Amino acid sequence: MIRAEIIAIGSELLTPSRIDTNSLFITGELNRLGVDVVEKHVVGDERARLIEAVRIAIHHSEIVILTGGLGPTEDDLTREAAAEALDRKLVRSPEQEEILVRRFQQINRKMADINRRQTFLIEGAKALPNPYGTAPGQFLRTSTGSVFLLPGPPRELKPMMHEQVIPLLRPMLPPQVIRTRVFRVTGLGESDLDALIAPVYTKFANPTTTVLSAPGDLSVTLFARSSSEAEADALLKEAGDPIAQLLGERVYSNEDDPLEVVVGNLLRRRHATVATAESCTGGLIAARLTEHAGSSDFFTGSFVTYNDLQKQQLLGIPKDLLGTYTAVSEPVARAMAEAAKKNTGSTYALSVTGFAGPDGGTEENPVGTVFIGLAGPRETKVRRIRYGLDRARIRLLATQAAIDLLRHELLQDC
Ligand code: ATP
Ligand code: MG
Repeated sequence: MIRAEIIAIGSELLTPSRIDTNSLFITGELNRLGVDVVEKHVVGDERARLIEAVRIAIHHSEIVILTGGLGPTEDDLTREAAAEALDRKLVRSPEQEEILVRRFQQINRKMADINRRQTFLIEGAKALPNPYGTAPGQFLRTSTGSVFLLPGPPRELKPMMHEQVIPLLRPMLPPQVIRTRVFRVTGLGESDLDALIAPVYTKFANPTTTVLSAPGDLSVTLFARSSSEAEADALLKEAGDPIAQLLGERVYSNEDDPLEVVVGNLLRRRHATVATAESCTGGLIAARLTEHAGSSDFFTGSFVTYNDLQKQQLLGIPKDLLGTYTAVSEPVARAMAEAAKKNTGSTYALSVTGFAGPDGGTEENPVGTVFIGLAGPRETKVRRIRYGLDRARIRLLATQAAIDLLRHELLQDC
């Protein structure tokens, strides 16, 4: 396995206002070539630390990519530090100097003397042309691997990665096909998901499995590498089929589609429509369902009824019902969904009523209790769910759970 390491250079990357996004981009590109990134470092503009970081990196990894600090100023130390770490000299390159002088002539500016620093190459390095800026990149082979020096500005780095670095790396790597299989999952927590599928994926070193998690939304990706597409697909099948079986209908997509897109497609296919009546989610479900173009095919409208009076006036929920059971209750969730369905003439309607907190709640239904209603062509279902205490999380999870309840219903109603 070829291993790579990235060093992002620049003191600004160690402040709270800038983040190192270059290494994310580089990692994505390397992964596509079948190269694993095993370490990343962010180093400030400090010569001694930089030398040390480069020394360690070239000792540990076959591919080392440095980004940033190739500019013309005193604090741009990457060239000097890399040369020192490699025990090589920096040599003037008349050819690079000519390119740079010409570049400045083209834009009608006189080249400042300090820019000459940018035309020095590490002994034995190949200059990587940078038509997007002034500093060329550099590539050199050492006895153990390859080192690349690339500029920091993303608009220079990105095209250089595609145009220079990848074509240089590809012939050094064994031919490899990478195939992925994705499961987007909702309806269970990250640790429950892991407990369920870890017994399968830990048996396989290839494909490797990664789990990404957002509130109420998990994504499992299997990466298979092989010398042929057929073999990579066979590996994905061997590890992926048992995972698919264990997860069952909790998998809402094998593409990278978000839940609301999947549900929108299911509704569209059935020529069905949906409305919402929302209390504690304040319109979040409607916002999700209308996020993508074409949602008018299946979305009819929404009632955001936050207080009891609006529940009465907009949805016609009887005052008595609210008085007897309170707004956060099974009968009110049921009545809200049925009223939204009836008022809009939709095939389905979702309702949400709950205590998002931090205040409110009762002994029976404390903060975090949410009732989700779904009125359909035949019946109305209501689910009571208990979440934690974080308001933003309760609202997100309730939104996700409501849309997912509709998905399950649509899968049954085919
Ligand atoms: P320049 O010739 O522009 O000085 P440079 O190679 O010296 O190029 P830096 O000075 O380190 O690059 O960075 C220039 C710009 O690129 C800055 O705006 C910086 O925030 C951005 N940048 C640098 N490194 C990164 C990184 N790792 N991720 C995202 N942005 C970066
Ligand atoms: Mg700079």
